[in-house]
Amino acid sequence: MGLLSEGSPLTWEETKKYADHVRKHGIIQFLNIYQKLKDRQGDTLKWGDEVEYMLVTFDHEAKTAKLNLDGVKYLKVLEEKEVNNPDDHPALWRPEYAAYMLEGTPAKPYGGQMAHFNMVEASMKQRREEVRKLITENDSPLSVTSFPRLGCPNFTTPSYQPTITEAGVSRSLYFPDEAINGTHPRFKTLTRNIRSRKGEKIAINIPIFKDKNTPSPFLENFDVDIDGQGAKASKPDHIYMDAMGFGMGNSCLQVTFQACNIREARHLYDQLAPLCPILLALSAASPLYKGYVSDIDCRWNIIAASVDCRTKEERGLEPLKNDRYVIPKSRYDSIDSYISEEGDRYNDIDLVFDEDICQHLMNSGIDRLLARHIAHLFIRDPVSLFSEKINLDDENDTDHFENIQSTNWQTMRFKPPPANSPIGWRVEFRPSEVQLTDFENAAYVVFVVLLTRVILSFKLNFLMPISKVDYNMQEAQKRDAVGQCKFYFRKDLRTCYANDPQCNNVNIHDECALMSIDTIINGGEVDGVEFPGVIPLIKDYLQTVEVDVDTSCTIVQYLELISRRASGKLITMAKWIRQFVSQHPDYKQDSVVSEQINYDLMVACDKITKGELEAPELMFTPVPKTREDLPPLIKKMEEKYAAEEKKRAEQGAAETS
Ligand code: GLU
Ligand code: MG
Repeated sequence: MGLLSEGSPLTWEETKKYADHVRKHGIIQFLNIYQKLKDRQGDTLKWGDEVEYMLVTFDHEAKTAKLNLDGVKYLKVLEEKEVNNPDDHPALWRPEYAAYMLEGTPAKPYGGQMAHFNMVEASMKQRREEVRKLITENDSPLSVTSFPRLGCPNFTTPSYQPTITEAGVSRSLYFPDEAINGTHPRFKTLTRNIRSRKGEKIAINIPIFKDKNTPSPFLENFDVDIDGQGAKASKPDHIYMDAMGFGMGNSCLQVTFQACNIREARHLYDQLAPLCPILLALSAASPLYKGYVSDIDCRWNIIAASVDCRTKEERGLEPLKNDRYVIPKSRYDSIDSYISEEGDRYNDIDLVFDEDICQHLMNSGIDRLLARHIAHLFIRDPVSLFSEKINLDDENDTDHFENIQSTNWQTMRFKPPPANSPIGWRVEFRPSEVQLTDFENAAYVVFVVLLTRVILSFKLNFLMPISKVDYNMQEAQKRDAVGQCKFYFRKDLRTCYANDPQCNNVNIHDECALMSIDTIINGGEVDGVEFPGVIPLIKDYLQTVEVDVDTSCTIVQYLELISRRASGKLITMAKWIRQFVSQHPDYKQDSVVSEQINYDLMVACDKITKGELEAPELMFTPVPKTREDLPPLIKKMEEKYAAEEKKRAEQGAAETS
């Protein structure tokens, strides 16, 4: 989940003193990268996925499923392979927020050949296998977005009581500090400092799903609440959660790809932003929280609230006195501005940004759009800082820039090249919830990356007012959004860029219409006019490129999954979980997910993951054609490209040195 610098963590009071220092040097560091690399050209498509897993331990006698806090120990073993064998290791492993979490990415990025799409699932399988080899047979690395009984008594193994006193990191009534990943200082530091900066505990309220026997009003019990913060912050008919772990302890599926230059990166950042809510709804996988059935299907607003460090003044609850801005959103939320020229006319929400930083960036030659974007990220304070990392070499370090950048957890992330590395300008797509099986996760990842190819090849245009993207983000999280909600979407995907004179006469809001996800993905009629649909466009694109038979067969299955999920022929994971709970004999129509239901649900998830249980409402049985390596001929070509690229890079380095 971001920058992994280590050292001696500073408290919020200490960090606060350095906030301006971090911002000042962060901007210098950004400018240094920008000046050096703004004209960098010709990078090839390279891309990768990130899958977050939870390590679940089953006790088949006691009929319990718990989160295993030894995840971090296994992670150390997995990470060692990379350290010992940098050129030959099966995958890359990184720590995540919780001690029960593991995050895996492919060992090497995938490339621009179509055959790479066929390697994603194999790599994901390999990653899961790698974990399985280390753990006991009662453990399983499950890619579930939210663990149903997270925060219920004894939800971890070993079990710990939460530390609710001043000494606690979260001070949660439910989430013990031991469940936070303690092997890296970032996670506890962030937790404590976000809470301290906010001036009160994290407060997350999400609507409960009101079933026949759910008490009305539904009220939480605060018998153990020592300072009354819980009772004060919780809302009737809502599930109340009070720690960063309730959000950052959830899992997701992310994709990062390298663009050929900064212009393309900015273009794709903007083009994919309107797709974020659509992918969120299509991947919805998390209706259960803290042992209850909620009325939402996605994790998004929960994580947003779980790292919301805004003070009362910043949230607009008190007049501004000590703080500088009223800020409408948490650090974790959807993007607030487009950054490409084409996107500018759709920037219709007030952007809060640091005027001085913006001016400084513009004086240094950065255009207004990018300057505003960076100055917007930099309204935030650093919330994690290490004493050894205060005074840095701004020519060669980017820690201060990354500090602010990587704690702006937005739907999309625009990523400058790291200092002194061969990596180019990149974009990260971050909204999707993680699915149970490698097949599904590969399908969602491939769908997004294929979409970038289609956008570029067919010059598609998905832009719409950013206020409407915000509206869609909230719709996307509602119960059964795919079936029930309508989303604003651009009617004409093939036309209308800012430099098109015809465009200027059209009201940006009239360019989109409310559509179902089915229409958006599969096509249909909108206001009497044919809308092509994203998947038919992808299929048109596939006709124009050369694809080997196996890859083609795999891609067809991936598109079929997405298409059927969009049309409702298959249901989302969220809907499937709801059905599982409501049909469970132990369920009393009271919105409670008992230990027994939790166990049976996790067992079913484990079996589906392993292919031992079919869930035909959720997905069809795939016929895998995925492979660990490229077909020999393509591999040869790829090696040739790599050698040429290396030569070019060496020549480039020789010319600049
Ligand atoms: N686990 C977080 C999520 O579900 C993402 C953390 C990260 O940025 O890696 O969105
Ligand atoms: Mg992560």
